[in-house]
Formats: sequence, structure tokens, C-alpha cells
Amino acid sequence: MNIEKYDEIRASLPAGVRLVAVSKFKPAEDIAALYQHGQRVFGENHAQEMKAKHEMLPKDIEWHFIGHLQTNKVKYIAPYVSLIHSIDSFELLKEVNKQAIKNNRVIPCLLQFHVAEEETKFGFTSEECAAMLKSPEFQELKNVKIHGVMGMATFTDNKEQVRGEFQHLHRIFQDLKTQFFSQNHDFKEISMGMSEDYHIALEEGSTLVRIGSSIFGPRNYDK
Ligand SMILES: *Cc1c(COP(=O)(O)O)cnc(C)c1O
Repeated sequence: MNIEKYDEIRASLPAGVRLVAVSKFKPAEDIAALYQHGQRVFGENHAQEMKAKHEMLPKDIEWHFIGHLQTNKVKYIAPYVSLIHSIDSFELLKEVNKQAIKNNRVIPCLLQFHVAEEETKFGFTSEECAAMLKSPEFQELKNVKIHGVMGMATFTDNKEQVRGEFQHLHRIFQDLKTQFFSQNHDFKEISMGMSEDYHIALEEGSTLVRIGSSIFGPRNYDK
């Protein structure tokens, strides 16, 4: 783990921007070490792995779910998750609402948008999302609260392309705020930026950067 890099990232964040330390595939000891150093927000992308770590580690950690979430896995995270960044379908949002009811809580969520070139990335298109937000069924979901948007840029060295995709996400955020969330004061988050592109994301208005490998070292394996 690179504590110096962590400190450098923390110091570079503008006021109001939070760091999600992405600890996927990393052992609980690494999380505990960064916790000792003051970090409280951690991001995971596998539900069972997050559950296991949640059980082992201090209870004031804020767990953020950042990866594609299958509906049948929501139950593993619903009791304690602080923010789900990756709502990419209406079906998933309905399941999160259902599990939130079971746990007698309201779960904060971000809507994930597909702004990258790669087909493999998940997320709504603006049209799909608008259709959901206009539907009466959406209005009935009382146990989820939409706090903003999330997106991932294309994996490329072309910085202008990455910047353009972050600008696109920022525009989506503004449009949704105006059209659907002007009365929702929690609708204020733009989750964008990872180890390789968080500088650009900050310049384009990110409020949550999700950084893993710069802090914890290269991923051991990817699933
Ligand atoms: C793994 C991951 C990150 C962190 O990526 P790094 O390049 O390791 O910083 C951020 N967001 C999502 C959705 C991820 O899956």
C-alpha cells in the first residue's frame, strides 16, 4: 500500500470532494491499515466480498458499492451499504427499494450512465433513465433516494476523449437536476474519476473519486 500517494491524493482534493478508497480484491488488513490512517469510505464491487469485510471491520466504515450489481445479490449489502453508485436498471432500483424496506431504511443510490465508448460498460442511456424517472412506479419507491450520477470513461490514453465523456456526464447531471430533482437537495453527487483519470474528473466537476490501484497497488486479479 502507498500511504504517501494516499496522502497526496487526499491533499489534492478540492473542498467538498470525497475519496472512495476502492479496496476490491484487497485483504481486510489493508483496509484496516488505511482506516487507522483516517480513511472511512471504502468501495467494493462484489456483494459477498463486501459483506465479509463489513463483518470483520469497524462499524463506522462507509461501504460504497461501485460495481455491476445483480438483483439477487442486493440482499448481501442492503443492511449497511452507505451508497450504491451503480444503479444501471429500473429492475435493480426496484430490488434495492424492496430490500431497503426489509431493513427498514432508505438506501442512497446513484444512477450509472453509459458515457464510454466500450460496449462492455454498464449504465443507462439518457432516454432509458428519463423513461424511468417519469414513470408512476418510480414515484412509489420510497426507500431509495437518488443522490446523483456515476460514470466511467473509456479506458484510453486519449485525455480529450476522457474529458469529453466526463463533460457529458456532468451535462446529464445538470439536465436531471433541472428536470427531475430540483427539489431534492441530496441530488448533488457526480461520481467519476479513477486512478488514471481522476485529475481530469476533478476538473470536470467530480464530487466522488473512486481510487484503487494508486493507493493499494495493482489489482491482484480481476474477475
Ligand atoms: C476498480 C474500480 C475503480 C478503481 O479503479 P483504479 O483504476 O484501481 O483506481 C473505480 N470504479 C470502479 C467502478 C471500479 O470497478
